[in-house]
Amino acid sequence: MRKTRIAGVIAGIAMTALALTACNSGSPTSPGGESEGDGGDALWEVATDVSLDGSPTFERMTGRDGVIVGVKNDQPGLGYEDAATGERTGFDVDIARWIAASLGFSEDQITYQTIPSANREQEIVNGNIDYYVGTYSITDSRKELIDFAGPYFITGQGLLVAADNTDIEGPDDLAGKIVCSVTGSTPLQRIRDEYSPGDTVEYDTYSQCIDQLLAGSVDAITTDQAILAGYVAQQPDELKIAGEVFSEERYGVGLEKGDTALLDHINALFTDGGDVWQALFDEHLAPAGITGEQPAVD
Ligand code: GLU
Repeated sequence: MRKTRIAGVIAGIAMTALALTACNSGSPTSPGGESEGDGGDALWEVATDVSLDGSPTFERMTGRDGVIVGVKNDQPGLGYEDAATGERTGFDVDIARWIAASLGFSEDQITYQTIPSANREQEIVNGNIDYYVGTYSITDSRKELIDFAGPYFITGQGLLVAADNTDIEGPDDLAGKIVCSVTGSTPLQRIRDEYSPGDTVEYDTYSQCIDQLLAGSVDAITTDQAILAGYVAQQPDELKIAGEVFSEERYGVGLEKGDTALLDHINALFTDGGDVWQALFDEHLAPAGITGEQPAVD
């Protein structure tokens, strides 16, 4: 009796997730105001008559009549690019689109640049991108070079192992194990500084670590649980998360240092946009089993 009721609840949750996905599937690359024809499900409109006095980044955007955003392309549910169609999807990508729309730019005015973790600060400092949205943790050392709007999401560092692994259940089980992570990421730094894995190997991207794990050349991958959950959702028979999170990773939008007009604009968008945030969370992260609430901005 009890079992049936729980199963019913789970089925209900799954159906809600499906309904939400279906609701937004009419315009997966464009959940905002440009979803022509299917009316009713647009999450936002492209703003008109925007002025952002004192923002050098906004001036650069209006000067070229377009936005250049830095994103990831191999993190399902967060920042993903379909190799066949070129379609970009995910929570982070949609956050980037929502910001662009709030600044008056439509989807066809957005240029996406795939930038790996190690290069983010430099690309922002050089002015090669206008802002970056891609599992980018707010840290003091990064804040010496750039500013962060947000946080817009909070997750924590975790471990991913092969589905048949039985001996890794947390970061204290890594003696003699080879752990893969990404150059320039906070999880790689933390696993080296605070734990004692047998060895670490680093690549530019997490999908390269996935290849190594599936090939059996590494024992575990460490990065944010939200990223790991996206890979598990893609290959649940091959991969599993091991244990609980062991850090707090607060995701921010990377911006040129000192552009407070843009920073304040994005923070106000997040603060006022709880409905949009929730819809994006429900569409992209909840289906992978990720839980969380919208955090208050700093
Ligand atoms: N959030 C962590 C970081 O910013 C790990 C994820 C990533 O590499 O993007 O370093």
